[in-house]
Amino acid sequence: MSAYEPVIGVEIHVQLSTRTKMFCGCELSFGDPPNTHTCPVCLAHPGVLPVVNEEAIRRALVIGLALGCEIAPRSIFHRKNYFYPDLPKAYQVSQFDIPICGRGEFTAIREDGSELTVGITRAHLEEDAAKLTHEGGRRAGAEGSVVDFNRGGTPLVEIVTEPDLRSGSDVATFLRQLRQTLLFLGVSDCSMEEGSMRADANVSIRPVGSHELGTKTELKNMNSFRFLERGIEAEIARQERILSEGGRISQETVHYEPETGHITSLRSKEESHDYRYFPEPDLVPVVPDPAWVESLRAEQPELPVPLRRRMVAEMGLSAEDAEVLTESPELVEYFMQAAALADPKACANWIRGELRAQLRETGEEPWQSKVTPAHVAALVDLLAAGTVSVPAAKEVLAGMIQTGDQPAAVVESKGLAAMDDGDLAAIIAELVAANPDQAQQLRDGKDKVLGFFVGQAMKQTGGRANPQSVQKLVREAVLGE
Ligand SMILES: [Zn+2]
Repeated sequence: MSAYEPVIGVEIHVQLSTRTKMFCGCELSFGDPPNTHTCPVCLAHPGVLPVVNEEAIRRALVIGLALGCEIAPRSIFHRKNYFYPDLPKAYQVSQFDIPICGRGEFTAIREDGSELTVGITRAHLEEDAAKLTHEGGRRAGAEGSVVDFNRGGTPLVEIVTEPDLRSGSDVATFLRQLRQTLLFLGVSDCSMEEGSMRADANVSIRPVGSHELGTKTELKNMNSFRFLERGIEAEIARQERILSEGGRISQETVHYEPETGHITSLRSKEESHDYRYFPEPDLVPVVPDPAWVESLRAEQPELPVPLRRRMVAEMGLSAEDAEVLTESPELVEYFMQAAALADPKACANWIRGELRAQLRETGEEPWQSKVTPAHVAALVDLLAAGTVSVPAAKEVLAGMIQTGDQPAAVVESKGLAAMDDGDLAAIIAELVAANPDQAQQLRDGKDKVLGFFVGQAMKQTGGRANPQSVQKLVREAVLGE
């Protein structure tokens, strides 16, 4: 056990996938030629005036409601002043002391089933900066830098948590499920690789039992949850080493190198600028109509974490089934449609198991394939009725993936219906006669040998034998049961 307890809070920037930017009519773009989505407003020409994007406000409210935040009856924008080439106005329009969403909390489910509740300090709206690319090396050694203003002015929601997290793996669990929730809300693409979701972690440690906060460092710009988790663990270990050797932590921004596992210092926070926040005089306060807020609350979709709990409690799914099936809103919708028609547990098994495994070859997701949820339900019913065996059902599924036909039609066209016991009995009699050694083993009490007969019967019948029937008939033939 370490003598220190880590204390971690995170700041998450989420680019909203609105059609247009935060304060002008330029369309958002990703991957378009540089500087093709700009206008006098987002390039900060003199005399231009910003206008708030109403859809961005709506999405910020939707996020705040999902996080149980207090919605501010009135919030305002501030200018955050700093001088950098990615910011043509030399200030970023952001929210400061009166954010649109105040305190809330978010609960995630850990792998062991325990719950992880993290306080949300605030969620506020701001605009993204432009994208700087340093040519010929990292910032310090670069030969030059170019700037693409397409990203400048993209609406962002920044979510700030309380320092409630205690390990890198909890941070990863929290962020993965927060991301999933945002995807269900349809507010952002939340792509870590493309930068539409970015997370920074504030990390400090303190002696176990202490309630004071230690000096924190900021771990910046990790483009995957896995690297963020590893970076946090590396930073905790670095701080423990310093403190145990009698040193002190300096407040700074640090970077984790995934290739080497090393932490490097980017810049000292102690020299950081005073942003001289002051209210943005060109924008009116945001005063959302309470009736609008209530209608947004009423329209919230069922979110993945509560949905997972319900799937386990009410639908008989395992915790793992629920986790896999809530991966995306599309998969949830697909599963729910099937589960409304047939046994939910069996539908879950077939969708997350055989269907996804077979679709790996075509690279399709279930909802993109020719197999509809109703087809899955019909297949589950055929199995339950004993019309097809499990191996035959897998073939039926393969047929449905190719043709999109009803399972019953595939059973018919491929002759996959389970054989009736009368036809099967004759085959079993032949099998028992042809394999006297195995029959003797069964007489000696070695039940495992039944698997051999099932395999042989499947071979003989092209998978149309029901394994339970084979076992029963072999016992009858050999043991007279
Ligand atoms: Zn613009």
